Amino acid sequence: MATIPNCPQCDSSYAYEDRGLFICPECGNEWQAASETEENAGGLVVKDSNGNLLQDGDSVTVIKDLKVKGASGAIKQGTKVKNIRLVEGDHNIDCKVDGFGPMKLKSEFVKKL
Ligand SMILES: [Zn+2]
Repeated sequence: MATIPNCPQCDSSYAYEDRGLFICPECGNEWQAASETEENAGGLVVKDSNGNLLQDGDSVTVIKDLKVKGASGAIKQGTKVKNIRLVEGDHNIDCKVDGFGPMKLKSEFVKKL
């Protein structure tokens, strides 16, 4: 039998399940029984150049010089990037690079620290 979580609204432990919804008898809150919250960033799977899974908040190093549109120089190989955020798309890492500002990188050009 599945365990019923406490109500996210009032933390009551008397919640029950009804047709895929959890219902709290104490505050009347209803919420989805789906386990979406277990998946990171809405199920995004982003891997670095070595195939390691990346997560929001990870720090990575750039593994090759990357040209930046509109900037005078390239992001050098070995540049550390802290606190990345995973996003959907071709450039799947949203981050801030020292000296360059906010930008998007491709996960295949970074390595998890
Ligand atoms: Zn409740």
